[in-house]
Amino acid sequence: MARKKKRAPLPELPPGARFFDSHCHLDMDDYNADRSEVIQRAARAGVSRMMTIGIDLPSSRAALRLAETNSGIFCAVGIHPHSAAEADDAALTEIRQLARAAEVRAVGEIGLDYAKMHCSREEQITAFQRQLELAAELKLPVIIHDREAHYETMAILRQAAPLKHGGVMHCFSGDLALAREVVDLGFYISLPGVLTFNKTESLRQVAREIPLESLIVETDAPFLTPAPYRGKRNEPACVLYTAQCLSEIRGITLAETAAQTTLNCEKLFALEGK
Ligand SMILES: [Zn+2]
Ligand SMILES: [Zn+2]
Repeated sequence: MARKKKRAPLPELPPGARFFDSHCHLDMDDYNADRSEVIQRAARAGVSRMMTIGIDLPSSRAALRLAETNSGIFCAVGIHPHSAAEADDAALTEIRQLARAAEVRAVGEIGLDYAKMHCSREEQITAFQRQLELAAELKLPVIIHDREAHYETMAILRQAAPLKHGGVMHCFSGDLALAREVVDLGFYISLPGVLTFNKTESLRQVAREIPLESLIVETDAPFLTPAPYRGKRNEPACVLYTAQCLSEIRGITLAETAAQTTLNCEKLFALEGK
């Protein structure tokens, strides 16, 4: 008889613990067959709130619809560097209009991606700067995507500083020195499931050394599934694996990690008491 590999259970949920997935993409087609089950599974796993993030106009609209129709789901609207060429006046006007909704808690994801270069550097920089200005005008924090563009991302953020409503470097991929610069700007660092992979010593060092008051966790679902499900579709419930890994690295309980990272998200997205 063929032996079936058993699915590893989620870490045991500490009583009363509430987790916050700071970054996922629930509007994506990957969830068309079972979106409501995915959302229910998150709730059962203790992930009581999550931010679903826009990457262009259609996904920003869809993210807002999801947030409007599901308690515990909030959203960000914005144009990802891959779609930077679309960030014209009309698009930014619509982002501004969408952001009037109470469920919109950030502008994002915005930033620079020099790994894939779907748009030119000039287009990416212009779209990034214009959306930083928009976030300041809207009094919202920013969700930053930075891939292989650490130096220029930081230069642009410093130029835009002070960013009074703060922000987060999502899916952090830099080293400890960069993490310290991000924290000095008053930003949070969001740790993805990559933390659970082997050979990520520099990210583990960030997780160990940066004060817990500046760390949050995310899935970036449907991407970047943490171990033990690496390679499969990700979903918000899996943020527990990353939180568990962070707890082990710091030598604290999962309950402590849940409490502090959730509080950090509440502060960042102005959701205290919501
Ligand atoms: Zn991203
Ligand atoms: Zn994302």
